[in-house]
Amino acid sequence: MAEPLIYVGLDVGGTTMKSAAVDDAGKPLSAPVIMATEPERGQEAGLETMCETIRRAVKAAGVGLADVTAIGVATPGLMDIKAGLILDPPNLKPWKNVPVRDHIRQVFGKPTVYQNDANAAAYGEFWVGSGQAAKSMVLFTLGTGVGGGIILGDVIVEGEHSHGGELGHLRIAMPDRGRLCGCGARGCLEAYASATNVVKRAREEMAAWRGATKLRQYYTANDDDFTSKHVFNLAAAGDECALKVVDDTAYYLALGACAVISSVDPEMIVFGGGMVAAGESFRSRIDTYVRQYGLPFPTKTVKIAFASLGSDAGFIGAAGCARLAVKAK
Ligand SMILES: [Zn+2]
Repeated sequence: MAEPLIYVGLDVGGTTMKSAAVDDAGKPLSAPVIMATEPERGQEAGLETMCETIRRAVKAAGVGLADVTAIGVATPGLMDIKAGLILDPPNLKPWKNVPVRDHIRQVFGKPTVYQNDANAAAYGEFWVGSGQAAKSMVLFTLGTGVGGGIILGDVIVEGEHSHGGELGHLRIAMPDRGRLCGCGARGCLEAYASATNVVKRAREEMAAWRGATKLRQYYTANDDDFTSKHVFNLAAAGDECALKVVDDTAYYLALGACAVISSVDPEMIVFGGGMVAAGESFRSRIDTYVRQYGLPFPTKTVKIAFASLGSDAGFIGAAGCARLAVKAK
């Protein structure tokens, strides 16, 4: 009998990193091992934490390093995927030009692949999540920012400069008068639909709202910890001002989805991250706007769904990328 194939996925974020060993069918062999990233301790310490997270994940799976076929590592950009380098991502300061792929390959002596975290999450959903029956899929991940990943067949669209699928920076408003984005440009999807910007728009909306809104009461009482979750919860409870903010969010996300439909015509578009908790009514608002504004022919049959792997998509997808690279040989 052939040896079982086991892949280790590591998903490095600005706050924590997460790793687990995954079998050939995409099933994690244990709960993920989570360690603090603490980028401020420097990149040498960061690389050591990555290796330790992987070691613990192998142990948690009840296997030995000899059983591991390959390792996949995902990090946020900026990055050089081909060179296996973390460049200087804003949420991993002060790291700069970290040779993450080659370091891990050397330490473990295993084939190691490197991928953007949102691309890895997209591949995870495509492999064993919401997109598993689809032949092509695009993921929007909604959090502090808006990330994205484009999977066409078994091809992850990395682009020439490692930043293909940066769907948060799709332009959905005029660049000279749209909202200001963290990237420095105006009119990006992220400047409207990220969790942070949902909160900003909610503040503006409630300031201008003529009637009563619980949003205003809630915001006044909870100034500091007012999050997009409160906006979605109040919308679900029927607050009209909150509903307006949520409906606008669905509209902006749909405009992003329409741009993707016109450029790659995917079978499925998946939305993941915190806002998924807003439930079916939010999904169906996005769906309705996509049907209304998308290029008619491909939009007729495109599927709009929520992600199903939650925050596990990153490490499962990173393991999937490792598997993909090994199988391609
Ligand atoms: Zn931007």
